Amino acid sequence: MNIQYRVLSLLRENGPLSRAQLADRLEVPRPRLLGELDRLVVAGRVSEAGPAASRGGRRSTLVQLDPGIRFAAVDLGASSIDIEITDGALAPVASCSEPADIRSGPDAVLGRISELLHAMADEGHYTRLDAIGIGVPGPVSFREGVPVSPPIMVGWNRFPVRDTLAKAHGCPVVVDNDVNVMSLGERHSGVARTVDHLLFVKIGSGIGSGMQHHGRIYRGAEGCAGDIGHVQVEAESEGPVCSCGNTGCLEAYFGGVALARDATEAAESGRSPALAGRLAERGVLTAQDVAECASGGDNTSVNLVRAGGHRVGQVLATLVSFMNPSMIVIGGGLTGLGYPLLAEIRSVVYKRSLPLATGNLPIVMSELGPRAGVVGAAFLASELAYGEES
Ligand SMILES: [Zn+2]
Repeated sequence: MNIQYRVLSLLRENGPLSRAQLADRLEVPRPRLLGELDRLVVAGRVSEAGPAASRGGRRSTLVQLDPGIRFAAVDLGASSIDIEITDGALAPVASCSEPADIRSGPDAVLGRISELLHAMADEGHYTRLDAIGIGVPGPVSFREGVPVSPPIMVGWNRFPVRDTLAKAHGCPVVVDNDVNVMSLGERHSGVARTVDHLLFVKIGSGIGSGMQHHGRIYRGAEGCAGDIGHVQVEAESEGPVCSCGNTGCLEAYFGGVALARDATEAAESGRSPALAGRLAERGVLTAQDVAECASGGDNTSVNLVRAGGHRVGQVLATLVSFMNPSMIVIGGGLTGLGYPLLAEIRSVVYKRSLPLATGNLPIVMSELGPRAGVVGAAFLASELAYGEES
């Protein structure tokens, strides 16, 4: 593997290291390492950080990622933009968030992202970006840096997201599906550190998953691997129509949109006085209302959460048999539904999957929560800048 990439990723994960420590860990001859370090200094990627603590004999020099390295991490959701500027080790130096409607199209949304980035430059958070990583809520051709037939991103099909941002900011850009990006974030600095075979499931307004094999994302032929929201869970022609136009999809039965719809129906039919009270008060119900009514003891709300968890669990049980992950992480906005959701998913997966596959399979909530997207986007940006594709 490329020595420069290995040096940079070791410094990213460990902080400053001495030349002697780098030579030990990389198991490369010292003269070769010193030559590569010289090239990295010239390229502005690493700098010297003074003498290391003595190990006896001559002191070795500490090497660090150059303090001027800056990555921009962008998490673009259906209704929000979140941005972090990080240093070379992915520590955040600035952040901003604002509502945005993905349906207003790529010119408006990417234009706004560029304005926000330029404002952060004006505030002194960077002078030059080394790379930008961006996650978008739809399937992406990773190689081309374009969304491909994204169901909720009207007007974005094959729009050159990567090339547009690269031209506007004069740096390399990497674009990926938002759930893949969150899964990378969770492995870099969340609950899945050191987990090699990770299944990350996002339950937000819709449902999707990101799969990692030996720590690398499996994207499939067209970039839509893991799009489990459209797995069929009920016979076609029954039940609600999905955003993709089919019936019977998982996402048509659970996720923020489906839950708000079912909660409204439960309120209007008189099945849940608690939800009816909130609907009368606010005029609209969201998944958050279901979460709060469920924790307040409303049976209908608890049952809505359990029924959704049950359906997700059934799909995950199939995936466990197929990919044999070493951990499942549940993330996304609906993790606010808390333990009843997790308990139901666990119970179905442990019951339905083969004992060999679940014997040592933790199913846990995301540790990074709403930051998973920006952490993963910063990680992808650094992989691109440091010379390795994820
Ligand atoms: Zn669908």
